[in-house]
Amino acid sequence: MSGRSAVEADVAVVGAGPAGAAAALFAARRGHHVVVLEMQAFPRDKLCGEGLMPSGRAPLRELGLEAVVTAQGAPPLNGLQFGLPHKPLVAVPFPEHGGDQAGLGIRRLDFDARFADALIRDPRIEFCQYTKVREIRRDPDGRSIVSTTSGDVRARFVAVADGLRSDVRHRLGWTVGPRPPHRYGIVGHWLVDGPVDPWVRITFDQDLEVYEGPVAGNQRMVGLLCYQPRMRDFSGRLATRYREIVLSLRPELGDAELVGPVAAAGPFWYRASTVAADGIFLVGDAGGFTDPITGEGIAAGLRQARAFAVAIESRNPERAYRLAHRRLTKDPRRVASLLLRLTRTPALVERGLQSHERAPRMLTKLLGVGFGYWGFDRITPREWLRMFTGR
Ligand SMILES: Cc1cc2nc3c(=O)[nH]c(=O)nc-3n(C[C@H](O)[C@H](O)[C@H](O)COP(=O)(O)OP(=O)(O)OC[C@H]3O[C@@H](n4cnc5c(N)ncnc54)[C@H](O)[C@@H]3O)c2cc1C
Repeated sequence: MSGRSAVEADVAVVGAGPAGAAAALFAARRGHHVVVLEMQAFPRDKLCGEGLMPSGRAPLRELGLEAVVTAQGAPPLNGLQFGLPHKPLVAVPFPEHGGDQAGLGIRRLDFDARFADALIRDPRIEFCQYTKVREIRRDPDGRSIVSTTSGDVRARFVAVADGLRSDVRHRLGWTVGPRPPHRYGIVGHWLVDGPVDPWVRITFDQDLEVYEGPVAGNQRMVGLLCYQPRMRDFSGRLATRYREIVLSLRPELGDAELVGPVAAAGPFWYRASTVAADGIFLVGDAGGFTDPITGEGIAAGLRQARAFAVAIESRNPERAYRLAHRRLTKDPRRVASLLLRLTRTPALVERGLQSHERAPRMLTKLLGVGFGYWGFDRITPREWLRMFTGR
């Protein structure tokens, strides 16, 4: 990009995380000339639970990246195992849908780098790294001028995919949140010996949840999620306290080596007052994010990216995208809110776990709602009753 005259494009994309990169690739494959603006250089890491839910595999496959990611060693994920500390876990397999049942354990450092490779290889995409977007304004002929640290880009459509705390969304005045009670995540990686265990294990402690899942190369991601009061416990001693807590709740990791940095993120729960207006579209976390509890942020971003590329070809692109976004996010957000409510009440967690034996398909069905496979009506009144009353 030259620093002087504006670069012309059909589509400008802000951010090259999974949502932005996928939006660029889907649009380019439909014949659009795309410029991707990313402030960091790849490979770059991103704090994440690193589980790609099964609903994210279809868009990944359509982009030709599923085989690349699995060839790199991403282990399959069969489902979730829930439990209380030092008690037997309850297994909830992922629902089967359209031929996909397993998710994938993905190390974000590698996963996002494969997307970056695909951006570089695509002749219709200009991928500008170390390029920070400052603001977006309209020009008189109705196109958007995206102002960056390396010059301007003039585009008909802009996909804003700059993540959870989206600075661009904030500048547009579209940010809602973060909504209390504030939640935070802390993530580290552990090098383990032995075979890959294809389950994500979730343990509910008093005011904290531990998530553990396989990623490539004998590594396990271990993430902690907690509310603000508990977060104070980590102040000034993040890695030490993280290590102590993980080892107290996962003593079997005693022989494992903690590799790389321990990092924290939050608060979560952001929304946007609109996800599309005046040629600007919010994709991925920038369009709103409830909580990592459902682990479907990447899959949701990939599906929204596909919806964006389809919407810009319709007669009213903004309206088409707003409708598609709502369809893709409404029920998954409700599932996330429901799980958050449940997990804040230890008695309900215990009851839910106890009821599982009597209604073993209930939680799998609920995961299917969260993945956008089907609606809440799949779950029978009897199953709801069992979950909440244990009867
Ligand atoms: C603790 C935790 C656990 C999680 N666990 C899971 C999980 O197990 N599974 C799952 O699917 N999801 C999980 N998520 C959510 C997941 O990480 C996000 O949903 C996902 O990364 C969103 O992708 P994105 O492309 O929208 O944004 P990001 O991945 O955040 O990418 C945004 C990109 O925009 C760039 N950028 C930002 N500002 C600018 C700017 N001004 N100009 C140019 N570039 C810019 C950034 O450098 C970055 O590369 C978790 C999140 C957290 C915090």
